Amino acid sequence: MPSCAIATCKNTGRTKEPGISFSFHHFPKDLVISQAWLQRCKWKDPASTKNALICSDHFDAEDFVEDKMNKLLNLKQRSVLQPEAIPTKKLPLQTEISSRKTRMLQREWKKVKQSLIGTWKMMQIFIYAHFSLCQFVLNRSC
Ligand SMILES: [Zn+2]
Repeated sequence: MPSCAIATCKNTGRTKEPGISFSFHHFPKDLVISQAWLQRCKWKDPASTKNALICSDHFDAEDFVEDKMNKLLNLKQRSVLQPEAIPTKKLPLQTEISSRKTRMLQREWKKVKQSLIGTWKMMQIFIYAHFSLCQFVLNRSC
């Protein structure tokens, strides 16, 4: 099932809204244009674009061309992108990405804090035990 590579887009092959159908498009072979697509995906880790797809939701109507081949063969027209088309619509906003990042950092910090609290408690127990032992030893030696 295809899913859209744009970080904040939830369109999949199964997404069905009345009167709206998505088409999914492979990354272009042209490296410069492919890089421009990748940049707009806002992935945290730029993965391979070989199997990545971007849905038609991110392109203007003018970005599509007539499927001349299928028209000639009298087949169902596919949506074909202009070779130099770049996704420009419904792209992730920088704030959406950074808030996601902030939430992730907050979660990480919570984990660190919890483990620090755990360590601190252990240290307190250790200090207390050590202190009691010292006292015990001192008392004995007196
Ligand atoms: Zn999409």
